Amino acid sequence: MVDPTSDLGEDVDESTAPECTICGEKIVQSPTHRIVTTIEDGLVAYRHFCSDECRDEWHDDD
Ligand SMILES: [Zn+2]
Repeated sequence: MVDPTSDLGEDVDESTAPECTICGEKIVQSPTHRIVTTIEDGLVAYRHFCSDECRDEWHDDD
């Protein structure tokens, strides 16, 4: 049996995958995955988005 994910060096699966900040969808090795770095209360925080559409929606709220 060949595990196609074992060569990537990443241990990402459904249980550890980040969720989209906007729609809450689990992001598992998605090519449209976007990460935005923000400062919240003086700490670095990472916002995960499943696509550019969700990222743009988040900016609209600001
Ligand atoms: Zn989303």
